[in-house]
Amino acid sequence: MSISSNAQVAFKAERKQTSCAYCGVGCGLDIEIHNDSPVKLQGTTSHPANQGRVCVKGNSLLDTIATKGRLLQPEINQQPVSWDEATEHVASKFNDIIDQHGKDAVAFYVSGQLLTEDYYLANKLMKGYIGSANIDTNSRLCMSSAVSSYKRAFGEDVVPCEYQDLEKADVIFFVGSNAAWTHPVLFQRMQAAKIQNPKLQFVALDPRKTATTELADIHLQLAPGSDAGFYNGLLKYLNESDAIDQQYIEDSTNGFNDALTQANYWTLDKVSEFCQLDPFDIEQAYRLFADHKNVISFYSMGINQSNSGTDKCNSIINCHLASGKIGKSGAGPFSITGQPNAMGGREVGALCNQLTAHLEVENKEHQGIVQSYWQSPTIATQVGTSATEIIENIEQGTIKAIWIMATNPVVSLPDRERVIAALNKCELVVVSDCVEKNDTLEYANVKLPATTWLEKDGTVTNSERVISRQRGMIDAPGQAKNDWQIISEVASKMGFKGFDYQHPYQIFAEFCELTGIASKGERLLDISPLKPNSKQQFDTMMPTRWPISDSGSSSSASQLHHRPFANGRFSTKSRKANFIAITPVLPQLETAPKFPFVLNTGRIRDQWHSMTRTSTATHLNQHISVPKLSINTIDGKRLNIKANDWIKAKSSVGEVMVEADLSEDVKPGQCFMPIHWNQQFASDANVSNLFPSVVDPVSKQPQLKQVRVAIEKIDVRFLTKIEVKNEYAQRIDVSGLSLYGKALYRKTLYQHCQSYLVAETEHERSNNNAETIVLESTLKQLKSMLGQEVQWLSLLAANDGIGRFVGSIDGTLAVIVECFDLNNVDSIKSDKPIFPETNVGWLEHVFEQPQLSQQHKVAILKSEPAAEFLKGKQICSCFNVHQTEIEDAIMSGSDNLEKLAVTLKCGSGCGSCKTDLTQMIKDHKTQLSGHSSKTILPENIITMGGC
Ligand code: SF4
Repeated sequence: MSISSNAQVAFKAERKQTSCAYCGVGCGLDIEIHNDSPVKLQGTTSHPANQGRVCVKGNSLLDTIATKGRLLQPEINQQPVSWDEATEHVASKFNDIIDQHGKDAVAFYVSGQLLTEDYYLANKLMKGYIGSANIDTNSRLCMSSAVSSYKRAFGEDVVPCEYQDLEKADVIFFVGSNAAWTHPVLFQRMQAAKIQNPKLQFVALDPRKTATTELADIHLQLAPGSDAGFYNGLLKYLNESDAIDQQYIEDSTNGFNDALTQANYWTLDKVSEFCQLDPFDIEQAYRLFADHKNVISFYSMGINQSNSGTDKCNSIINCHLASGKIGKSGAGPFSITGQPNAMGGREVGALCNQLTAHLEVENKEHQGIVQSYWQSPTIATQVGTSATEIIENIEQGTIKAIWIMATNPVVSLPDRERVIAALNKCELVVVSDCVEKNDTLEYANVKLPATTWLEKDGTVTNSERVISRQRGMIDAPGQAKNDWQIISEVASKMGFKGFDYQHPYQIFAEFCELTGIASKGERLLDISPLKPNSKQQFDTMMPTRWPISDSGSSSSASQLHHRPFANGRFSTKSRKANFIAITPVLPQLETAPKFPFVLNTGRIRDQWHSMTRTSTATHLNQHISVPKLSINTIDGKRLNIKANDWIKAKSSVGEVMVEADLSEDVKPGQCFMPIHWNQQFASDANVSNLFPSVVDPVSKQPQLKQVRVAIEKIDVRFLTKIEVKNEYAQRIDVSGLSLYGKALYRKTLYQHCQSYLVAETEHERSNNNAETIVLESTLKQLKSMLGQEVQWLSLLAANDGIGRFVGSIDGTLAVIVECFDLNNVDSIKSDKPIFPETNVGWLEHVFEQPQLSQQHKVAILKSEPAAEFLKGKQICSCFNVHQTEIEDAIMSGSDNLEKLAVTLKCGSGCGSCKTDLTQMIKDHKTQLSGHSSKTILPENIITMGGC
């Protein structure tokens, strides 16, 4: 739509449709654009994934598109160069290394953030032109066990369910998934289905209490990693309860007897011992599975990221095959992916053991199909190196060049220090990324600026096999290029023909055609009917689920697909599905005496992966602003650890140092830490540092869910908090502060200021006088970093161990420094945080003011925020609603979720805060009934898990 008025400047408004850049739900988003600038975002009502819904992360995407922080031009050895020089350098270095050491001396490590067209070309270059299968994707870390299990069972990597099945189910088992936080829009759909059909039962298997388990009818808090024991026991139970579908087993499957023989060892007592669950609870859950026709097992990283992830997935699939709960509406084993285009990578074969279009690397016939279609000079004939093997081969010197695209392996691969050492050793490290700084870019010889989300054109596939368009709507900043263009340029400069693309529609068309040729009616992945003949046809492509029916076309094709395996035929040679006999094993862990705690990892509600994008949407940093390690209160007491104490978790390979969260959500002997924090936002808080490189033998997926650690309190003596207005933030480098002890630091981005917390862990500063401490060291250095123009005011309360300083520039608040000597601060004797995050709203307010008033100066120096800003913890990020506002509303009569949604809107966005809201309503009612058990929400509640 274009609107012009009589005014001289024509106003242009249009609405374009695209897909979310975050999780595997793959929500459709409508973007409203005014005069070529995106101004508003909302869920696409016609998109089959979200039907208009959107979660808080997706809703904040427009806050993340600023040019600030972007990599804007190519660099070789930190020096800016032209694209021509950069691609020439990469091409000639790759050619030299291949000439000297062979084709397997180079590797690509790609990402589920790439679009299908980027993925396809990277795979084509490596497998068809270089002739090696040394390409792997970071999806190896999140769902390759699900891929291996589907292939073992069905003969093809096909997810047998779709989202509307969740609404038709009688029972949903959440297995290793905290969907309420990790896949919020899907969880909303399931919650809505439960309201429509109160008989719908949720059963959650998770070692921790999470936002998902809180809303489950049954929560089985099983031993970490024991899920296959539970499902083996279920297979035995189904058989003995006459709940198997004998006809289906005979007509459509192989190997039932072997799987059952193995499962028959798993009596209720054995499952109870292995999973550490009450037999009554286990049987109750088994009964639900057995008694209902429509059962879904909904699983993600909690299952996949394991030393036996493939077996765990197959133990789940076995139960669905045995009971015939597959290939039909409302039932099936449903693996949910984490990344927006992990599925696209699976389709184009970007894992090192696949060829494109669901073909296999080591199958001669498949090699012939792909090479002949590509007309390529060669084709990979052997499985290449997986993600962790790439690192091992660099260590051993057999891989000498790596090209990393759109991923941050220093943060996400196991054993961070080992990854860093390998990258340091590697002769050539090329990194294509959209940001100028992340933990991996620090080790790049060549940096290539890539486009991102709203700048790119192409396709993505979500967890229910729906292929959607991602549409470019804004210009790329600086010299950033699309990944498919960068790959094409390097391929051409390496001397290869076959990369002469002008637009991604040509790449997608090629891929579509190849799937038709490759499928030969034996595989379900055939998207040839979607082949666009023009850019315009590609532009108008609608979300489409495969398999596409014979009569399918690309118009509203979501209605025209056919359900995988509905006819009981699979993609194996026999056309029957395979049962796999499973021997459950627990995670491969160090011994308990040295490392007494089992640490679980997971995601938090408002952050995504390594925070590169979400951290720039500043309101997402309020729900949980710093990394913490959650331990049970009993363990806290035993180890003399209070909330917010600094603690160290040490594994056999590394350590993290963070603040403690005391919680009943983890069992004694277990602990939890989120995966997101990295060197850009916190020293010593990258959880992958704790993980040795242990992988599943079938899928090669690393065990990134559980590791054993020892926990001890760290002796922190001095804490300094620095809040600096955004425009001066670049002047401060906390890692460059020369302190007396080891400095641990945290950084949080807010709208008007950045906040740093620096903790010193040693005691050389023996002087108890806070004034001396601050003036002699930290403040002096900060003053030098900030420059002479800062006017300083100070409040020193040396006897209390507190120094507080305010700096202004031209009458505006520029910086606040607070320094605490913990030996002398009374507040540390309580569980209260020294720096309450609840002050954030007030700080944002004072930093926003054009002039620093006397009243504000006094309030800052006394740390006494104005009462109207003391709203407590942020509960609802979508509408920025805080604890005290909600409590007031509940007391005034908004005492259910529906009323709160009307009065404050909280809970009516992504719905992820509904668990907290429900708890607050419950607390209020308990108080009214005279039983006082009010829950105080901690500053940084960590209650997530699963994915
Ligand atoms: Fe994006 Fe949220 Fe939808 Fe995931 S659930 S695709 S993060 S909007």
